[in-house]
Amino acid sequence: MEKKELLYEGKAKKLYKTEDNNLLIAEFKDDLTAFNALKKGSEDGKGALNNKISTQLFKILEKNGIKTHLVKTLDETHQLVKFCKIIPIEVIVRNIATGSLTKRLGITDGTTLPFPLVEFCYKNDDLGDPLLNDEHCLILNLVQDEGVLVTLKELARKINSILKDFFAKRDLILVDFKVEFGIDSSGEILLADEISPDSCRFWDAKTKEKLDKDRFREGLGSVKVAYEEVLNRILKTQ
Ligand code: 5GP
Repeated sequence: MEKKELLYEGKAKKLYKTEDNNLLIAEFKDDLTAFNALKKGSEDGKGALNNKISTQLFKILEKNGIKTHLVKTLDETHQLVKFCKIIPIEVIVRNIATGSLTKRLGITDGTTLPFPLVEFCYKNDDLGDPLLNDEHCLILNLVQDEGVLVTLKELARKINSILKDFFAKRDLILVDFKVEFGIDSSGEILLADEISPDSCRFWDAKTKEKLDKDRFREGLGSVKVAYEEVLNRILKTQ
């Protein structure tokens, strides 16, 4: 399968058409951005690590009944994925309060939430990805009906429960994460985009060291070493 015309370029990935209308090639970039792309950088090998990490996590989720866009890994930085129309909602799940939640609501950083909090944000860089409630989603026609929002929340909670347990066994705390979903040609909702240390917060269970993109956001040093550590723990057999 070969890359054809560039369909979309985001902050961390490029999407190419292929000769099959139902399949796209996703290329993982080495670029890093923080706080709506105001701070930019790049680290050699970051894209390849995210490709490996996301592939492993999508396979685990598939085994646990979550349908995803992943078809297969093509090489170090490329995946073959099913074409789907991305729902422009970033679905965020939080187990521990940090980041924008602590700033927005004044909750002490590091507080364990009484239950996983699911939030929706509008996937719109020009507006700074603002927080949405269900009615905003309907008024903006981001989904067909309220049932889709219910499904997105259920899927997000299920993904959280699978991954939280998986990482706990590897001494990693899944603090929070962002996922995106798409709708394929048959109308099925698929987990799309990626799940990686670019889109999740991981803290070491013992030292509370940050092993995710916050290292770049906060100038804490190399992200690559941290992402390699996350991959090694994912690959660790139980
Ligand atoms: P916060 O709202 O605290 O900045 O982010 C919550 C979680 O969602 C974090 O794990 C963060 O990495 C992820 N997240 C939120 N917005 C984005 C985004 O635009 N891109 C990526 N890759 N992750 C995001």
